Amino acid sequence: MITCPNCKQTLPPSALTCQFCGADVRSVKRPRFERDRISGASNAAGAGLTPEHIVQVWIALGALWVLTIIWGFVFGLSIIPARFGGQLSGGLISGVVVIVQILRLGGAVTFTGRMKVPLTAINGAVWLGVGWCVLGLVLNGINIATAGSSGIGYVVMDVACLLVHSGVFWIIKRAEEDGLLP
Ligand SMILES: [Zn+2]
Repeated sequence: MITCPNCKQTLPPSALTCQFCGADVRSVKRPRFERDRISGASNAAGAGLTPEHIVQVWIALGALWVLTIIWGFVFGLSIIPARFGGQLSGGLISGVVVIVQILRLGGAVTFTGRMKVPLTAINGAVWLGVGWCVLGLVLNGINIATAGSSGIGYVVMDVACLLVHSGVFWIIKRAEEDGLLP
């Protein structure tokens, strides 16, 4: 729903003119899919996504996000302590890994379930994941540099992890524009 700037009546989001006072309402802010429809835009990335599509993409990205966290547990617990266990306590690092992944999981699960939580908490969990993926890239880069190409698969996972997190940021922005936040 949009509001006529002239007479303040509520109008359907597809309205081009106000049915009450006749004012031109094409410039009124409205969900992006309606803007795209009205302006004829169809080539922009994500144009033409219906609200149903946006929610489906949201949930799919959420599921992928959870997968990156499962991977984070496996990678973090199996590789990081092994690599740095000689320098720092493996138990301490494992503890940090578990706490980071639990925080990420909290964000990802509430996101995927479209639960109503402050957006800053979700964004914080996404940024934590971005930091985690970058850390993985650095550690795996060291691995490859010191032990040959055995870490290529891990690097692919880290890049996929960053892509998923970018997707989550993108869909949050899209949902916000279209008023589709939980
Ligand atoms: Zn009006």
